[in-house]
Amino acid sequence: MKIHEYQARDLFRRYGIPVNNYTMVRSPGEARRASTNWSQVVVKAQVLTGGRGKAGGVKLAESPEEVEAKASEIFGMDIKGFKVDRILVCDAAPIAKEHYLGMILDRACQGVTLMLSDQGGVDIEDLAASNPDAIHKLTLFPHQELDEKTLKKFLGQSISGEAQLNQALDAAKSLYTLFLSTDASLAEINPYALTPDGKMLALDGKINFDENALFRHPEIASLRNPEEDSEDEIEAREKNLSFVSLRGSIGCIVNGAGLAMATLDLIKHYGGDPANFLDVGGSSNPQKVADALSIILRNPKVKAILINIFGGITRCDDIANGLLLARKQLTIELPLVIRLVGTNQAQGRSILESAGLSAKDDLDEAIKAVIAAVGGKP
Ligand code: GDP
Ligand code: MN
Repeated sequence: MKIHEYQARDLFRRYGIPVNNYTMVRSPGEARRASTNWSQVVVKAQVLTGGRGKAGGVKLAESPEEVEAKASEIFGMDIKGFKVDRILVCDAAPIAKEHYLGMILDRACQGVTLMLSDQGGVDIEDLAASNPDAIHKLTLFPHQELDEKTLKKFLGQSISGEAQLNQALDAAKSLYTLFLSTDASLAEINPYALTPDGKMLALDGKINFDENALFRHPEIASLRNPEEDSEDEIEAREKNLSFVSLRGSIGCIVNGAGLAMATLDLIKHYGGDPANFLDVGGSSNPQKVADALSIILRNPKVKAILINIFGGITRCDDIANGLLLARKQLTIELPLVIRLVGTNQAQGRSILESAGLSAKDDLDEAIKAVIAAVGGKP
């Protein structure tokens, strides 16, 4: 789950990471009123994507009138598909140097990898590609006690001056505490700025959280921004379906995340394009299948639906009953291709047959059939 910069700043503050003053606003007039005490103001689009500076979503202003004018320009902007409906006004900090400080859940190292550079700012992605050596890395292991000496030495590779180093050490420790105690998967401060009078300040923040750990953090879960997900994804979450919108024309209903991934791969392999990832889960009840179909049918891009069930805990008769239930609740005019094997396969198939539907054994065959149904080459 992603959060906005203003939400990340609230967390930075709570964990003791110094930030410049800021207020989130929802109108240009509010932006002007919120920033009257500041001589230089940064006006920033709040959208759930990076690269706002380069997209024109971060502007400096030097008077309340200019703040209002810049805010008017930014409200309503579309940045990488996100419409700006919130703006952050900040007391602009003078910058002597822009550092980058981040940490990421690093599966390869089985730890939390810290990243640090003295070339922070809007070009950090380019830097990572063109000169990866300019980004220092250190992996920390949550089950081990943090070794401050090692951390300080690491920070010293990019941050000079004892006073700055101590500020950075405190900030890095706080960011690490925040990261671990909220089950974050990514936390970044960029720029982590040095001001001419020697202060280290977080001028931008980005934090992502592990979706599967959100149940442990209701206060973090409550920060969720619905615009992160499509309407389909929101409805699917409410119905306890694991669903991700994709761009293609073949709606997919599959039991089990692994089989769902393999199904998407095979559709691609045979030249088709899936419209979604959907895992109806292990112990499927018929209503889940009906819910899944109703979400998929609302997508106008979907031209045919593939149901791929390899019944283990999932019973084929439940799936078949779910399909019949869905046909009572919804009008299904699209071609349905069903592959149904596994637990209670015979019962499932006879339920389908009684309703005039048939099922296939072979997955490759089913996928070729659904691709043919959308007019693609098999
Ligand atoms: P991003 O482009 O989405 O990462 O947005 P940022 O919040 O990082 O802003 C982009 C750039 O604007 C930063 O790299 C800074 O160079 C500049 N910027 C942001 N806040 C301030 C500030 O308080 N003072 C100054 N002088 N520049 C700022
Ligand atoms: Mn940034």
